[in-house]
Amino acid sequence: MRTGGWHGIPITDHNSLSLQNRRSAFLPVYMNHLATRLFLVWCCWSVPAVFVEAAATSQYEESSAGHTWRGVLKEAERLQLPTTFLKVLPPDFIQFEFDDLRTYAAEYHSDEHRMVLNRSLSFNAAGRTLKPLGKMTHKELEVLYHELFHAYMDYLQVVEGHSDDAGHRSEELLHFAREQQACRYGEVEIAPIVQRQTGTESHYLTPTESWEALNETWAVFVGWAVWNQLEVQHKTGKSMFQGRRQAHEWMRRLMIAFEKGDLRGYYVPENPDERRLAQKKYLAKPSQLTLKEAVVLMKQVLGFQQDFIERFQALFKVPSTSACSASLG
Ligand SMILES: [Zn+2]
Repeated sequence: MRTGGWHGIPITDHNSLSLQNRRSAFLPVYMNHLATRLFLVWCCWSVPAVFVEAAATSQYEESSAGHTWRGVLKEAERLQLPTTFLKVLPPDFIQFEFDDLRTYAAEYHSDEHRMVLNRSLSFNAAGRTLKPLGKMTHKELEVLYHELFHAYMDYLQVVEGHSDDAGHRSEELLHFAREQQACRYGEVEIAPIVQRQTGTESHYLTPTESWEALNETWAVFVGWAVWNQLEVQHKTGKSMFQGRRQAHEWMRRLMIAFEKGDLRGYYVPENPDERRLAQKKYLAKPSQLTLKEAVVLMKQVLGFQQDFIERFQALFKVPSTSACSASLG
């Protein structure tokens, strides 16, 4: 998934930049658990000595990855940033890399679960490990959370259909996402000129395009939520989950964002002829995030407290049922 610069943080996610000279870092695990197990089985059959070494390395890498990921979660908790969706991700799921990204701030390659972040997000800009969250600017945390959400959606798809806990947990949000994809993102209004809200065009999207449009729209909201939480708290020095005034300010900002049509995603056209005219197509205001989607994301992804969400629903008069459920019958 890629995200462009219209909302102020140029972000991209995959296959748009050269992969040369990237330093792999932070989570030094290149295989998920399953791949690791397969690798070990293969070693075991051929050369037992290699197996021992590989197993030791792998355990070291896994514990190192776990330690680092646990560090990220601990810091996010300390900063009162969302952790609900991060806790679902296995410590070694994302492979972090850093590079000098000029056009974009970040990329996420779902095929390899690889996140490429700008070197400025690494410790001492050395391109090896992630900078402590507390040292990141609000914009950097917005970018990071945007990309982490892509990783989360990627993970939900990976475990979908599994009978274990992770599989069950993935079903609710994915079910809602597919419902929204069919109902809201199959036919969208496009803004031919990103900055201009008038003169929109209606487009039918392919399943790949609509899935990307949904993913980007939702990731934009997740990044938005984090950035605005930080801004509100920074100005008043108080958590928005403890102060009613802070919570109200965050909600007021969200209302303005909806009015301005800020919560919009984009997709890359599948058709090469279309792509030649525009690399990315940005959704227009009528196709921005809905309040219902915002509430589901606040609850299931960001893990906002129930009373916060109830106040939000009362203030915005959010319908309890999705317009999609009704239209889908
Ligand atoms: Zn994105």
